[in-house]
Amino acid sequence: EPAVTLDDVRKTYQLAETVHALDGVSLTLPRGSYTAIMGPSGSGKSTLMNVIGCLDTPTEGRVVIDGADVSTLSGRERTRLRGIEIGFVFQTFNLMPRLTALENVAMPQLFQNVGRTDRNERARDLLDRVGLADRADHRPNELSGGQRQRVALARALVNDPAIVLADEPSGNLDTETEAGILDLFAEFHDAGTTLLVVSHERHVAERAERIVHLLDGKIERIEALNDARNGS
Ligand code: ADP
Ligand code: ADP
Repeated sequence: EPAVTLDDVRKTYQLAETVHALDGVSLTLPRGSYTAIMGPSGSGKSTLMNVIGCLDTPTEGRVVIDGADVSTLSGRERTRLRGIEIGFVFQTFNLMPRLTALENVAMPQLFQNVGRTDRNERARDLLDRVGLADRADHRPNELSGGQRQRVALARALVNDPAIVLADEPSGNLDTETEAGILDLFAEFHDAGTTLLVVSHERHVAERAERIVHLLDGKIERIEALNDARNGS
């Protein structure tokens, strides 16, 4: 079964006028697939990510993750899904201000049965892989925007989630750091992780296997890309 299936998903906001943030989206993310989402501002990209990440519930339609219809899960099961199965890289970083980079990255493992030494070792490894080994003891306010973003990315990946959702993961990053992040995604892809990445940037989206183009809450078209991995 696929990692994620969306079946005619709609998300409607009733404001002064009705806004169809998602207007009948059906999409399958096969296990281990690497998909990019592109589309203009307001086309529904964030809403789509939030719905798949169980942060938001659709007005209509079905979201199935790992064979489970999300609407039938209890609050606790949904939290578990978010904490372990899904790694969510938020646009805003949501780092804990009083914790160091290392503690922030180690934190999601508290949901799991992992000892403190192993937690810290794993967190250090992830910080190293996002190029922040020398910032492990810094608090978020001592880090630049791009560094905070990388801490958030390391935190999203630390539990080795089956599904990674990333919203503009390389938005504030310089070219070299961005390349490092995209290589890290490629590594996770090679290891079988299901990836869904929102980006405004064509060269970022092109690292995926296909690009889903959203327009006005609908899938406008799906662009298949060369399967060969374009390692930069
Ligand atoms: P992006 O930067 O992805 O184009 P937006 O700037 O449109 O995103 O929106 C940023 C966030 O603000 C989204 O996650 C969305 O949930 C929220 N948002 C967008 N539009 C509205 C709105 N009209 N009312 C309340 N929240 C909104
Ligand atoms: P994108 O991420 O592509 O910019 P969003 O998913 O943030 O698009 O938003 C899609 C549409 O839904 C926009 O018209 C936005 O204003 C609206 N929207 C998003 N979140 C909310 C919200 N919480 N309340 C009202 N409208 C929203």
